[in-house]
Amino acid sequence: MIVIMKHNASAKNIADVISRIENDGYRAHLSEGEERTIIGVVGESPTPLRAENYSTMDGVDKVVRVSVPYKLASRVFHPNDTLVPLNGCQMGGDRILVIAGPCSVESREMIIETACAVKEAGATALRGGAFKPRTSPYSFQGHGEKALQWMAEAREVTGLPIVTEIMDPALVPMVTEYADVLQVGARNMQNFTLLNAVGESQHPVLLKRGMSSTVKDLLMAAEYILSHGNTRVMLCERGIRTFETATRNTADINAVPVLKQETHLPVVFDPSHATGKWEYVEAISKAAVAAGADGLIIEVHPKPEDAMSDGRQSLTFKRFEQLMQNVRRVAEAVNRSA
Ligand code: PEP
Ligand code: MN
Repeated sequence: MIVIMKHNASAKNIADVISRIENDGYRAHLSEGEERTIIGVVGESPTPLRAENYSTMDGVDKVVRVSVPYKLASRVFHPNDTLVPLNGCQMGGDRILVIAGPCSVESREMIIETACAVKEAGATALRGGAFKPRTSPYSFQGHGEKALQWMAEAREVTGLPIVTEIMDPALVPMVTEYADVLQVGARNMQNFTLLNAVGESQHPVLLKRGMSSTVKDLLMAAEYILSHGNTRVMLCERGIRTFETATRNTADINAVPVLKQETHLPVVFDPSHATGKWEYVEAISKAAVAAGADGLIIEVHPKPEDAMSDGRQSLTFKRFEQLMQNVRRVAEAVNRSA
């Protein structure tokens, strides 16, 4: 349920509604927009919520039942876009922000070299995996903390903030020491212990959609993080599994406008995992931006043919630079910049 206040509702009217919600055993979520204030009711309580008790209170315009199960993630609860600060910019703002870097951090030299190249081409943040979720236990699993230290060095050299995956709730203290953004990978989107841990950390999170998850599942996963008061959440569409085998996954472009309508959280698109082949990465990046994505996360490698993971979908520095130039033109066509 949400309580929509009148334009001229006083601070006391708002405080009275919040007290009533709390006395009924629920939590109040305040969203103060330019036009009006909306108070969301979240949580469970044995006391039934009676809309008529609230609609007659002073300053209340109307009370609306919300049928979606995600509340804090819903645009109904929070009509204004959430902006997540990243390197002096804001994910969710007018500028399309690009996060770029290798799938895995392979050495100190390669991450610093890649950071310099993607920064030069216009990236806002550096990605790179230190802990890798691999389908096979025999594949390269990442260099762990050493890789995080190399990324921190790359940040010192370039100023680019670090986006890196966390797989284990026990590693939150270690990974937050180095990372600016915690990535929750597709395979862990419904690891609820991890979602609670990154929520509690109050660190910015990039939450990737599970390859077999619905948009609703993604929003419910975001709700876990938001329920800890961590509002710096970015959602990431990275392709879903379908019967199609021509590409690694199927880029769900539909998810972009659906998410932009359903939630106030910024939407990032990952064309690398969505396609699995570097040849298609630029086309899908442009499609995502045209569809309304707020950001892109793209795999870039100094020598994709030698990569320890995801070389097939990784762009060379030169191809990434070209992509940035062409994405910029699409961004301008939809009244944004990149
Ligand atoms: C990655 O970003 O390298 C990764 C493993 O992504 P996903 O979780 O989307 O598969
Ligand atoms: Mn990868």
